[in-house]
Amino acid sequence: MESETSCGVIGALTPGRKMYKKVDREVIKGLEEIVGESLFCDPEKMYDYMGDEYADPSMKKTPEVVVKPKNTEQIAAILKLTNRENIPVTPRGGGTGLCGGCVPLYGGIVLSLENMNKILEIDKKNMLAVVEAGVTLSDFYAEVEKANFFFPPHPGEEGAQIGGLISTNASGSRAVKYGGIRNYVRGLEVVLPQGEIINMGGKFIKNSTGYSLLNLLVGSEGTLGIITKAIISLLPKSPAMYTLIVPYDSLDDAIMSVPEIRNKVLPMAVEFIESDVIPPTEDLLNKKWPCKGRAYLMIIVDGVSEEEVLGTSETIANICQKHNIRSIDDIVIADTEERQRNVLEIRSNIYSALKRGTIEILDITVPPAVIGDYVAKVHEISKKYDIWLPTYGHAADGNVHTHLMKVGIKDGKLDEEETEGWRDKYPPARRELHMEAKKLEGIVSGEHGIGLSKMEYLPIFVDRAQIELMKGIKELFDPNNILNPGKIFEVKNSL
Ligand SMILES: Cc1cc2nc3c(=O)[nH]c(=O)nc-3n(C[C@H](O)[C@H](O)[C@H](O)COP(=O)(O)OP(=O)(O)OC[C@H]3O[C@@H](n4cnc5c(N)ncnc54)[C@H](O)[C@@H]3O)c2cc1C
Repeated sequence: MESETSCGVIGALTPGRKMYKKVDREVIKGLEEIVGESLFCDPEKMYDYMGDEYADPSMKKTPEVVVKPKNTEQIAAILKLTNRENIPVTPRGGGTGLCGGCVPLYGGIVLSLENMNKILEIDKKNMLAVVEAGVTLSDFYAEVEKANFFFPPHPGEEGAQIGGLISTNASGSRAVKYGGIRNYVRGLEVVLPQGEIINMGGKFIKNSTGYSLLNLLVGSEGTLGIITKAIISLLPKSPAMYTLIVPYDSLDDAIMSVPEIRNKVLPMAVEFIESDVIPPTEDLLNKKWPCKGRAYLMIIVDGVSEEEVLGTSETIANICQKHNIRSIDDIVIADTEERQRNVLEIRSNIYSALKRGTIEILDITVPPAVIGDYVAKVHEISKKYDIWLPTYGHAADGNVHTHLMKVGIKDGKLDEEETEGWRDKYPPARRELHMEAKKLEGIVSGEHGIGLSKMEYLPIFVDRAQIELMKGIKELFDPNNILNPGKIFEVKNSL
């Protein structure tokens, strides 16, 4: 065991909570029999397992024990034990989630998949990979690249694990053309809350064999089963790719270009970025964004040849010109891998540059045609509450990331001083941002999930009957509510 100091002692349940059993010496002994030394209860080591990237410290909780199983059989044995003993289990991937999904709300066990990190097979003939759930995105990309394949989903944080990506139905900027991870999951091995191991899907492509439990597991946020293995589709690598950076004098003009671009060509990604987030990100990376404007579109196009992507880029440039860019010559084309990596790195690090002052990053998604209307509302709310709400996102699929900030921006740098009264302003501003999305027929989360932080909005965006069906499914899978309890919605067994 990594530390014997306090196993079975810490983490007593707070009075008033649902009476899950406390992790006592007997339980620790049972866990040790399963995973040997791959567990710890040392409070000093717990910090990294209390939650995810969600910034609010009230959304962090200390587990009673962290276990790091090495294989599926160990996970099955752990769940048999915890189901019998009534102990909550929170699956944890890379901890890069943004809505408190892996917070061990009721203490109990954090089950980290980090030791299940093997890429088991790259099957070139069937164009797929078989991986353990704890493989990180960066390791996965490296292996896929080596095999000369392409895996399109690209959430910005490569420390995320395959199991976490599937559990949140993650996507990222390339979803416009290639869709989110759901489109790439062909098969899953899952351990159910009572310890049974099941296999869904397989190496085949088509499957019309009863209800798709596989699709139910995608996006289930660790509440229905623990994903231990996945079969992932791969694509051939596109031989040619360009990234276009288009500077505009107004965000409206940038956004108005998008539907016309989408009607004519299908880029891999169309990102919108407001200029205020660029200087802090340049500062962080000591890199320069290649052009100047008040807003930008970053458009990635791929194709089978240079001629094809050049032609697509020209079509896009002509459309942008109709939408008030100063000159077609202002468009920057990153046509080498290095230049593309440079701009992509700046785009991917906006979050890191703003992190110090971020209370929360939202994941609202509206119909693409009204994204401009929604961002205009974000500006109104920013003005009304006098708080900085930097906004960027995936323009062509309507997925808007607004940061709720506790600091402003001054001379291109995050203010050292906190915005006066931000604690009082944050809840109503957050609510208004969601209600405006609702009016525009949007949805609370496009790719991050509901987790803990967005539970209050689920009944606003999803009707009661659907939520009741979801609760019924949860009860069927997990009658004792031991698996990631208190996430997405409360069931009768929770608080
Ligand atoms: C800088 C930054 C940029 C990001 N950009 C994007 C983006 O563009 N698009 C996007 O979609 N997301 C993005 N994210 C969010 C995050 O990376 C994704 O939500 C990712 O899918 C989480 O994976 P993870 O392994 O870190 O999961 P965790 O945060 O560990 O867990 C997420 C949820 O999955 C469950 N879970 C984890 N592993 C398993 C498993 N094996 N079995 C069952 N349940 C499991 C957890 O219980 C939890 O509910 C970003 C995050 C950061 C920090």
